[in-house]
Amino acid sequence: LIQLYLQLNALGFIYREIKRSLIDMEEMFSLLAEPKEISDAPGAPALVAADGGVVFEDVHFGYGPEREILKGVSFVVPPGKSLAIVGPSGAGKSTISRLLFRFYDVSRGRVLIDGQDVRGVTQASLRAAIGIVPQDTVLFNDTIYYNVAYGRPGAPREEVEAAARLARIHDFVVSLPDGYDTRVGERGLKLSGGEKQRVAIARTILKGPPILLFDEATSALDTQTEREIQISLREVAENRTTLMIAHRLSTVVDADEILVLDKGRVVERGRHAALLAAGGIYAGMWRRQQETAFLQAELAQAMAEE
Ligand code: ADP
Ligand code: MG
Repeated sequence: LIQLYLQLNALGFIYREIKRSLIDMEEMFSLLAEPKEISDAPGAPALVAADGGVVFEDVHFGYGPEREILKGVSFVVPPGKSLAIVGPSGAGKSTISRLLFRFYDVSRGRVLIDGQDVRGVTQASLRAAIGIVPQDTVLFNDTIYYNVAYGRPGAPREEVEAAARLARIHDFVVSLPDGYDTRVGERGLKLSGGEKQRVAIARTILKGPPILLFDEATSALDTQTEREIQISLREVAENRTTLMIAHRLSTVVDADEILVLDKGRVVERGRHAALLAAGGIYAGMWRRQQETAFLQAELAQAMAEE
């Protein structure tokens, strides 16, 4: 990871110098992850992302030929609607987000955005249309300001700060001696996982793309901060197509559709209430999480009374 981090920093520096406004952080990730496989089709046009409707059509995929990870996944997220993907670790949830972003190509089936196959458009235009808050955020070795403003280079200062406010990181930033000019990363201030995540959320808010992709976006946060950020995310997600991958089911109850993924297959789908009523896998997951939350609350109270 350190290695990757250093590479990213070096790459970040070079890129910044050469074509400051053109590149995208996510594109750098893809360059590092897949230097050879994924490339633009000759003469590929830019994605025309009007509303950001997302379709997965019988998608099959494996990282290698020996093991298929997604085994025929289909779903439709109409423009402006939200889809939540839940399921056990290793089910293939993050893989879905990587395919949407075209870090990899599907081995069968299609991934469409507003009717366009992601393989048929330029990667730059595809990635401009999607804002991703990944599980593990890597920040540039630069100032906090730069890291947030990266979402939309050249954005006015007020908008950078407004995004940081929505992501609940502004107050923390201004409490630092150097404020937004504080350097982070490697040679700078080490931010906690939750703080880094909030910087990434601020960056995505500033970018304001038609499609949002949150991969356990609030997993590194404490419950209180998570709750606050959920409110902000909901605001941002309004009228945007949103895919959220979630561990904590409390974050998906409002989704327009919930997919339960297990071993690369969709095993249940529907809205929260219907899934609860069906009394299947989702209902079981929900019950267990409620019990855990209850026990945690009990424990916290017992400790407070000590
Ligand atoms: P989830 O997000 O649901 O926990 P992932 O989509 O990350 O699951 O992973 C699904 C499966 O694919 C897991 O078994 C994981 O080990 C495997 N996997 C993930 N990334 C890679 C990779 N880069 N190379 C090979 N296998 C991978
Ligand atoms: Mg994952």
